[in-house]
Amino acid sequence: MCANFLNESQAEWLKTVNDFMDNEITVEYVRNCDFERQYPYEAYDKIAKQGWLGILIPESEGGSGGDIFDYSLMAEGLGKFGFDFACSVLVPTFTAMNIIKYGTAEQKARYVKPFIDGEIRFSVSISEPDAGSDAANTKTHARQDENGDWIVSGSKLWCSGAAAKDTVIAMLVRTDKNDKHNGLSVLLIPNDTPGLDIRKLPTLSRHATGTTEIFLDEVRVPADALLGEVGQGWKIITEHLELERCAVAAAYTGNAQEAVSNANRYAHQRTQFGKPIRDFQVLKHMLAENQTRVDAARLLCYRAAQMKADNLPAARETSMAKLYGSETLKQCALDGMQILGGYANLPEGDMERYLRESIQSTIGGGTSQIQRTIIAKSMRLPA
Ligand SMILES: Cc1cc2nc3c(=O)[nH]c(=O)nc-3n(C[C@H](O)[C@H](O)[C@H](O)COP(=O)(O)OP(=O)(O)OC[C@H]3O[C@@H](n4cnc5c(N)ncnc54)[C@H](O)[C@@H]3O)c2cc1C
Repeated sequence: MCANFLNESQAEWLKTVNDFMDNEITVEYVRNCDFERQYPYEAYDKIAKQGWLGILIPESEGGSGGDIFDYSLMAEGLGKFGFDFACSVLVPTFTAMNIIKYGTAEQKARYVKPFIDGEIRFSVSISEPDAGSDAANTKTHARQDENGDWIVSGSKLWCSGAAAKDTVIAMLVRTDKNDKHNGLSVLLIPNDTPGLDIRKLPTLSRHATGTTEIFLDEVRVPADALLGEVGQGWKIITEHLELERCAVAAAYTGNAQEAVSNANRYAHQRTQFGKPIRDFQVLKHMLAENQTRVDAARLLCYRAAQMKADNLPAARETSMAKLYGSETLKQCALDGMQILGGYANLPEGDMERYLRESIQSTIGGGTSQIQRTIIAKSMRLPA
């Protein structure tokens, strides 16, 4: 057992990803993608070359057959310099796993190897103007014509990564208006499908991956775009939400750790009143408090990831990890801003990016209020 309850090979794997972020990706690259609002194509390619996109994919399907614990450690490392960067890599993996589980042989042949090789990526489009926390309130609808093709109309909101090249959107659509949850299906729609109108949004966070709104007016999609069965959409999406919460919680924790480490480094360098600001007890205690929060967040992530790896029900544990990880990131980034003083306002300080992204972290993937509701439900508190 090493620090943080990892065994030797797990600790080594986390170090490998962290070193890769430091030396091959670099904080400057991540900062620049954010500043220029540019998708991190070069980094995505480098990660694909490592074979890491296929970490969760079974060996029989061409992946490396890792478990969710290995995957979460990768997410922790990839999140080091901000969640936006990690998101560009993690979000595609959610749909890849849905294709492994629900895809036809033809869909697997078309998508899995190109995904592992970094030639295509996936985005997930659940949210709509009237379907946020109430995600099953999907109004975008799809009907089949006489040839079996899907005709899709409506508008989706907040689809991260949908504007990046060679992206296939896993879109939740309504196929039966009379059944809220069982009337939903998932279509795999390449983002260059004629008629798809994808517009990037000028959001506070997610500058590099980019988030978008999508308009569809009688967009034609082939019959074989359906993932799983008609009416299985809610099941596919909710299963994926637990994997998502595990991964994002780990990435938030990785970033929260960097926010504390960054503030600690600055506190050692910055001198005021003739001494390093680390000597002021108020700042020392702030850092100590936040390191404690990060350690607690990390252990919640490891518990949730291990339970998922062992195929145990883990809705409560993944919600706790997501809730605490995101709130910890927000607190650490906010306190980091205070410790870095005026310098924190500049992109070079990195903290303003961490803060911007932390504000989204308690919203995306289910808000903190929704996570508390799930936890309360597990305690048999009334809905
Ligand atoms: C940058 C960014 C990227 C995103 N990326 C994606 C993506 O790739 N794909 C995708 O599908 N979606 C994405 N989202 C959408 C995200 O998942 C939603 O924003 C989130 O689910 C919340 O929905 P909402 O914004 O409509 O807020 P609402 O659901 O309207 O919530 C507003 C407020 O009401 C509270 N609230 C709502 N319902 C309840 C309740 N039952 N009990 C207590 N409080 C409640 C919420 O907690 C929140 O405080 C993204 C969002 C952002 C901002």
